[in-house]
Amino acid sequence: MVIVMRDNATADQIEAVEEKIRASNLRVHRVDGAIRTILGAIGDPSNVDIREFENMDSVLNVVRIMEPYKLCSRTFHPENSIIRFNGLELGSDRIIVMAGPCAVENEQQIYEITSNVAQAGATILRGGVFKPRTSPYAFQGLGMDGLKIMRQAADEFKLPIVTEVLEPGQIDLMYHYIDIYQVGARNMQNFPLLRALSNMDKPVLLKRGMSATIEEFLMAAEYIMSGGNYNIILCERGIRTFEKYTRNTLDISAIPIVKKLSHLPIIADPSHGTGRREFVAPMARAAVASGADGLIIEVHHQPDKALSDGPQSLLPDQFQRLMEELKVIAWAIGRTI
Ligand code: PEP
Ligand code: MN
Repeated sequence: MVIVMRDNATADQIEAVEEKIRASNLRVHRVDGAIRTILGAIGDPSNVDIREFENMDSVLNVVRIMEPYKLCSRTFHPENSIIRFNGLELGSDRIIVMAGPCAVENEQQIYEITSNVAQAGATILRGGVFKPRTSPYAFQGLGMDGLKIMRQAADEFKLPIVTEVLEPGQIDLMYHYIDIYQVGARNMQNFPLLRALSNMDKPVLLKRGMSATIEEFLMAAEYIMSGGNYNIILCERGIRTFEKYTRNTLDISAIPIVKKLSHLPIIADPSHGTGRREFVAPMARAAVASGADGLIIEVHHQPDKALSDGPQSLLPDQFQRLMEELKVIAWAIGRTI
């Protein structure tokens, strides 16, 4: 249930409504918007008489949220959420591009690629150090040693870091080295991991599971929000379909659909979404044109030698060209990059 307060509601009146929500055995989630305050009453509202709230002078209206997700629903929070970190805003007019290798491989590799993507205008450095590989025999990542060299490279080029966390035990270890925790497609419904991240004060990039519906995707975001971490960036990274030509099918339509259903920002991953270098740029352009708030793109200076995902990694000059093209698309839809 969402209770929309009148524009002129006083602090005491808002507090009185919050008290009444708590007295009904519901939890309060308060959103102070630019114009008015909205109070979410979270829990089972079946025994609550909605009219008691409607009759309060300070209340403009009361809306039941019909969707199973509440906190990430646009009904609860009509304005777009903007995720703020490291002086950046994700979800505002500026499109944020995260770029870097699939995996951190060694010091020379991460410095080279960080330098390339920073020069081309990327805003955030991506790179995996704990790799969720399909085969237990494939390269599993450099772990914390990799994260430390990635941090040094990122600092040299003044870029924040996004990297994947695989299990709750890694969260605290990674905390001081990272700026955004990434939850990979394979872990979208790893509920203990989502719950553990819900206590953190750093943003979470939540990737859509490869067979998750949009509703399941939003329910995973709800897990993180329900513990108090509202800093969530959703990521469409392709889903499994009958089509074999590409690694996954990038569900571009999920971008405007998520924007309709939720206030959370959403970015696209055309690298895992296609699995093939030649299709990364067209899908990146399409994602921005369809309203994505950002992109996450794999770049490698020697993709033939990459320890993971070489075939879908852009060469630095291809990435640079794409960034130039994206500027034009961003301009056409009233955004910047
Ligand atoms: C990645 O970003 O390197 C990754 C493993 O992505 P996904 O979880 O989308 O497969
Ligand atoms: Mn990858």
